[in-house]
Amino acid sequence: MIRNEEIRTHVLRCLALFLFLSVAGTAALGDGETAPARDAKQPVDDAYTAKIKKYTTQPFFTSPLVDYLPASKNVPTPEAVLGDVAGAPGILPYAEDVYKYMRLLEKASPRVKVFSIGKTEEGREMIAVAVSSPENLKNLEANRAQLAKLADPRTIKLDDAEADRIVAQAVPVYYITGTIHSPETGAPTALMELAYRLAVDESPYIREIRDGMITLITPVVEVDGRDRMVDIYHWHLSHPKDFYPPLIYWGKYVAHDNNRDAMGVTLKLTENVLNTYVDQKAQVLHDLHESVPYLYDNTAGDGPFNAWVDPILTDEWEMIGWRNVSDMTKFGMPGVFTHGVFDTWSPGYLMFIAAMHNGISRLYETFGNGGADTLPRTLDADEYSRTWYRQNPPLPKVLWSQRDNNNYEQTGLLTSLHYFNENKRLFLKNFYLKAKRSVTKPGAEGPSAYVLPADDPRLGSQAELLRVLQKQAVEISRSTAAFSVTLPAKKSTKSKKDAKDAKDTPPAPTTREFPAGSYIVRMDQPYSRIADALLDYQYWSPDDPQKTPYDDTGWTFGELFGVQVTRVVDPKVLDVAMERVKEIRAPSGVSGEATIYAINNNAEPSLATLRYKLHDASIEAAEEPFESGGKKFSRGSFLIRNATRAQLNDAISNLGLQATPVSAMPSVKTHPVRAARIAFVHTWLSTQAEGWWRIALDNLGVPYDYISTQTISKASDLNAKYDVILFPPVGFFSGPTAIINGMPSAWGNPLPWKNTPETPNLVGKNDSTDDMRPGLGWEGVANLQNFVAKGGVLLTATDTSRFALSIGLADGVSVGNAQKMKIVGSVVGTRLVDGASPIAYGYDEKLSAYCDNGPIFSLSSVSGARSGRRLGAESRTRPTGRGTMDDPDFTIGRPGTEVPDEPKSEIWENPLLTDEQLHNNFRVIPPANRARVIFRYADSKDLLISGLVEGGDEIAQHPAVVDVPTGNGHVVLFSINPVYRGETRGTYSLVLNTILNFDSLNAGRKLAEK
Ligand SMILES: [Zn+2]
Repeated sequence: MIRNEEIRTHVLRCLALFLFLSVAGTAALGDGETAPARDAKQPVDDAYTAKIKKYTTQPFFTSPLVDYLPASKNVPTPEAVLGDVAGAPGILPYAEDVYKYMRLLEKASPRVKVFSIGKTEEGREMIAVAVSSPENLKNLEANRAQLAKLADPRTIKLDDAEADRIVAQAVPVYYITGTIHSPETGAPTALMELAYRLAVDESPYIREIRDGMITLITPVVEVDGRDRMVDIYHWHLSHPKDFYPPLIYWGKYVAHDNNRDAMGVTLKLTENVLNTYVDQKAQVLHDLHESVPYLYDNTAGDGPFNAWVDPILTDEWEMIGWRNVSDMTKFGMPGVFTHGVFDTWSPGYLMFIAAMHNGISRLYETFGNGGADTLPRTLDADEYSRTWYRQNPPLPKVLWSQRDNNNYEQTGLLTSLHYFNENKRLFLKNFYLKAKRSVTKPGAEGPSAYVLPADDPRLGSQAELLRVLQKQAVEISRSTAAFSVTLPAKKSTKSKKDAKDAKDTPPAPTTREFPAGSYIVRMDQPYSRIADALLDYQYWSPDDPQKTPYDDTGWTFGELFGVQVTRVVDPKVLDVAMERVKEIRAPSGVSGEATIYAINNNAEPSLATLRYKLHDASIEAAEEPFESGGKKFSRGSFLIRNATRAQLNDAISNLGLQATPVSAMPSVKTHPVRAARIAFVHTWLSTQAEGWWRIALDNLGVPYDYISTQTISKASDLNAKYDVILFPPVGFFSGPTAIINGMPSAWGNPLPWKNTPETPNLVGKNDSTDDMRPGLGWEGVANLQNFVAKGGVLLTATDTSRFALSIGLADGVSVGNAQKMKIVGSVVGTRLVDGASPIAYGYDEKLSAYCDNGPIFSLSSVSGARSGRRLGAESRTRPTGRGTMDDPDFTIGRPGTEVPDEPKSEIWENPLLTDEQLHNNFRVIPPANRARVIFRYADSKDLLISGLVEGGDEIAQHPAVVDVPTGNGHVVLFSINPVYRGETRGTYSLVLNTILNFDSLNAGRKLAEK
């Protein structure tokens, strides 16, 4: 990270810079913009230039800005490291080669500085490269101090005149990030060459960029994934006739979703880029991707726009985006466009860090070949068609090279940098205004603050949520005394007519008290925007013209973390006595000495951390609530023996747990809470969805064996090694047959995923195989069946639940397909059905969960029967006959008979059986073997918490979490995804409870009579 040095010594330099720039600035203003071209006097590296020409497949796939390479006597070109020019066929550098080059540049030129910005999960370095004039680089710290005043207008007392003085002389920072998506391989070489051009070219167009601004470059964002991708490419080069393995792992944990982490900040790469962006007070974050021909600038996205971004920003998107298209169209480069299909709703993308921190978010999709081969590429009609926003579309069929891609990337960036520099006073002023509007938010659109109460039962999860906000550079305060605020009146849910009839008084505002020590997230701070976006609710109308949301539609963090968050409009909250909190520490501790300690269960995930930390202690769970020493303990509360106060204190420090000494074991029934032996299963089809589960368990300190479906297929006695098998969602290509069969293996060659001298980085700390193609196989299915029959617990979610049910691993539950339902990554309401189940320990009646269209579970008490929504009984009318609709019919000549009532049950209950169904029916599932619903989806009207719910009645009231006793074991099925993108801590304990109570899941179960 770039470090703060003494500010005082820099003030003088800064003044000198101000004078320098004022003079330079006036000179440039007179004649309009400099033409985008090389200077006739600019010396050119002819050999390198010839190769650029050679590797560019069409004369119109380049521009006057990049069709030559400026020559330098002492600065090495990318060829020094690559052995050829940037974008040359067959050449894909590892991250360390890219870094080596950037450091050669730094050594040779006073215009380049390289900074280390942190490490990845696997310990690889991430860097940022600053390119600017030597004066600017010398004044980096002083300039940053100036930019800091614009970034936090409170430091200049919101004084616009002072802001204008700073705007007039500060040097802006434009931050470019490359190859976050590892199969999108072109950015590193493009950025190596871009850095060289910016450092050595003396043409006025480039010099203006260099002198006028600081270009900051992170050439490789996903460093672990880059090295794996280069390995694969090398493998491909040495086996040119073979198929090569798909990139199953990118980073240690997730693949494509590494660009959906900007809300939860769970991954190192997000944290490192966020810190660099915020620390450097950058104005732009521009992220490079490759999936759309030839350059799609999705900066000016389609609607709906994220509700929390400043309209100043949405205008900037249009200005920069369309100008970019215009510049490149004039070069004659086809296929450059903006607008497109990307909606700008979710703030989860890496580049959105800038949008949520008062900057400008930008993103390019250029056209990559997933490696450095030159390939014929044929487009779909919707890619080459001309539309209003793509007047000069790409060509239907071309030969495309990595050099072409590098030409587009560099030309787009250079024109962007130049346009930004030309208008930097406007953009710097906007940067200030957006920050100022963030600070003045309470008096404008509001709210004034969010409050997280000190008496929340889940202080550990509350602390985790606050830590996410702190990673986002949000300031957190804590009240030093109790206080109260006025909350607005709740809107009446009754219709106007009802209200009039009942002569109700209109609902009145209420007062809410908060205890001392409550956390306050003030909205009069520069980064209020991100806090507001994460803590508020989202509503995506089913009538929105955008019918295909690009990503999740809802994410309300308080709901998904299971903690209380109150949105406070009342400005009085800002006057509450409070102090800033540097480090969030969840109150934890042991309040005395005894041989038995009790810890209340509030479904805090840290209870699992504690169980695995205290391996020698004996821990039991109370199956009923109890009281001790005037304190109430809920079901599932821990009773700990064989641990000293010191051991316990050490183990729970900072977990947000309170241990209370109790004089004797309570009289309620208890069962042991054991540290289950866990197998964590992945496929070789996709690892992303399970990656979010892995990182959650790793962060909680819950150990597991990480094995693939192939390992399961060879393990005939899984019970000898494991108590619980977690089979988290697969994601792509996850149909039941794909899980069993794997990838096609009747043809083609083995696809190895293992470290060799040729592929030293593939495995990392993950799994390996000689051939990725085989799946679970029928042996694997049998092994799983055996495991459950012999007492094991198998836990599945979403698509793996569908898999488990489709192969008959659990009976009495079927999966329906949604007809019209559309729940696109939304927060939905669920309701507790069976609070006595250990899976529900610590939970309340209502629980918010992440749902992405189901699956829809239905119950049956008869094996093999599929039951859908049982609307039949209600909709049936009486047969034709005498009397009114409610009357019984009669039969002439004999006394009437009553029609027996059919047994009725709710959708989340096992259907009651009729006598007819029970008669000699070997298919009837005995009560003890029937599905036990733990949580169900809320009623239709209560289903939507945040995001989009359309046609929700298809899933409303259906089971959301079900425990199916099977053989001696259990299959626990989730329709919701309880562990997702570091955003759903509130539902983690559904999984952890299953693990900790694996051999007592039937506790508290009440069975039907027949
Ligand atoms: Zn991408």
